[in-house]
Amino acid sequence: MSRPNFERLSKKNRGFAKSDRPIVGHIPTIALTPVVDGRTGAYEPNQEQTWAMVQRVYDLITSKVKLPDGTPVNVVVAPEMVYGPRTAAVAQKYYAGQGVSANIWISRSWAYSDELMGAIMGVGSTEWHQAAYGLNQTDRPGAVWLKAFTAAMDEKKRPIFSIYNPDLEDETKGIPPFVEKKLLRFARCATAAAEMRGKNYLSIGSVSMGIIGSDVRRNLMQNYLGMGTASFDMVGLKGRLDNGFYDHEEADKAFRFMKKKFKFDYEYGSYDMERPMPSDDLLKTCVKMTMIVRDLMQGNPRLANKAVGKKQGFKADIEHAQGFNAIASGTQGQRQWTDLYPNFDMAESMLCSSFDWNGYRAPMIVATENDSKNGIGMLIANLLSGMPQLFADIRTNWTPESIKKATGVDVSKICANGLIDKRNSGSGSLDYAVDVMKLVKGSKNMTIQEIAEEIRSSKAIQKKLMDEAIDATTYTGADLIYFPGDGLSSSYRTPGGIPMTSYRYNVVGDQLTCSVVEGETVELPKKVADHISKVTNESWPETYWMPRDMTSFEYMDKIGPNHDANSFGLIGADMITLNAMLRIPVDMHNVPKEDIFRPTMWDRFGGDDFRACSELGPLYK
Ligand code: MN
Repeated sequence: MSRPNFERLSKKNRGFAKSDRPIVGHIPTIALTPVVDGRTGAYEPNQEQTWAMVQRVYDLITSKVKLPDGTPVNVVVAPEMVYGPRTAAVAQKYYAGQGVSANIWISRSWAYSDELMGAIMGVGSTEWHQAAYGLNQTDRPGAVWLKAFTAAMDEKKRPIFSIYNPDLEDETKGIPPFVEKKLLRFARCATAAAEMRGKNYLSIGSVSMGIIGSDVRRNLMQNYLGMGTASFDMVGLKGRLDNGFYDHEEADKAFRFMKKKFKFDYEYGSYDMERPMPSDDLLKTCVKMTMIVRDLMQGNPRLANKAVGKKQGFKADIEHAQGFNAIASGTQGQRQWTDLYPNFDMAESMLCSSFDWNGYRAPMIVATENDSKNGIGMLIANLLSGMPQLFADIRTNWTPESIKKATGVDVSKICANGLIDKRNSGSGSLDYAVDVMKLVKGSKNMTIQEIAEEIRSSKAIQKKLMDEAIDATTYTGADLIYFPGDGLSSSYRTPGGIPMTSYRYNVVGDQLTCSVVEGETVELPKKVADHISKVTNESWPETYWMPRDMTSFEYMDKIGPNHDANSFGLIGADMITLNAMLRIPVDMHNVPKEDIFRPTMWDRFGGDDFRACSELGPLYK
């Protein structure tokens, strides 16, 4: 350890510290810990094949588990196989230096559970997520170790995920698909949990229109998600607009891009009222608001740069340039801001999309109406799927009978169990204007994470995605009755037949719960879709969706509040696993039984999620 140079530190000018990712933080790191029977004569013949098992798991996780920006999760392995307290301490010392937050124990043989338990006391902490993978073989019965070990962990109330293939494994054939699925699910969820940890939710404004379900509950965010919260009064946003505290060069570029690329309808929602500002000014203001929200979340070195400030006419400020290191945010908007100024529809729709005027990039999470419970769901679903997320209002439940009555069209073959009109009040990630599955060859047989990776790694697909999203979107003047300060709503219709998962976090007292329901988007006959749109609000983004094995009414009846959020792909099973990791019980889901993967402790409570979660309490409390 070398002594810090205090002399230099005390004289050094502060600056905008460089970061290779927009949000500063440690890359989530998973440890792989081989365990083995330490007896001489048992250890040696196991050595090669145990490491071969570890290598297979390493290759699988490093190639498949990535953050939404494409950064692969970091995987480290123990310096030597663990077979007792001292070898475990060697691993723990190394892991502490690497910032590990999850661990997979791997064994192809019996290993001493008691002595390993001695090791457990040192390896990991109550915050870590742990799994154990035991080989299914007869001469090396990994099951014996696995069962002894997970039972010991249950006794210690240290939740552990158990991984074991139903059929005997052939070690020459690689990891069986059953085991692969569980390893990836564990790794993906542990990565998501670690990525959120220590980041912030930025609350821009306070509660929108008295919707208490949206309220930012700061202790709950900290206790359940390990996240901080920051509160930014909207007057600060107005100040940045008035003082020109944004990159003017980028604002010009963004204005030209938006004006040239998108279709606009500035007349919608006028009701013979005069629009508050000329259309170009409206677009310019919306673009600046978009940049300011992003700068508040991620910071912007240009705002700390005195030369840039001097040239562009704003006062550079290092403190304000830092932003809030916010991995998710929400904008209040209604009503005080939107009564006077343009709404946040463009800011939310552009930031939540996978592109902007600077090109393709990882989507951001910005919740409408500062609905933080939807914001955390969007963050979690984004981390799990790698895809942008769609904020929605649960607008109307339409049964085939209602549709027949209103339009004369029989849709019972398309959506026998009805549909939900998901139509947010003006903003939606523009990716949802596109059937992203169709952009990727072979997507029918791919997981949503694999589809996300295909898009991330192909410039051609990205270009197609951006072109199609822009083509399918019209930015429409706000309904001036709702939004006297005007605004530009992202208006589009989501194509049908796309697998889509809906989710919602709820709070009951001081208990967080989650609802997650898989389904797909519905392609309605144009006449029907146009009718629903016309009788609701044509300027808002519309997504018709039906749950699987459930009527739309059941969904409508049982979901918590007026908002849910949605992800491309079927991610219900992942959300169930991640919620178990965070000790958040799932109050409603339609995930098949065989896909539910939770720590063994849940089985000891008869599968009662609420009981297991309350026994353990929030992960970070
Ligand atoms: Mn709403």
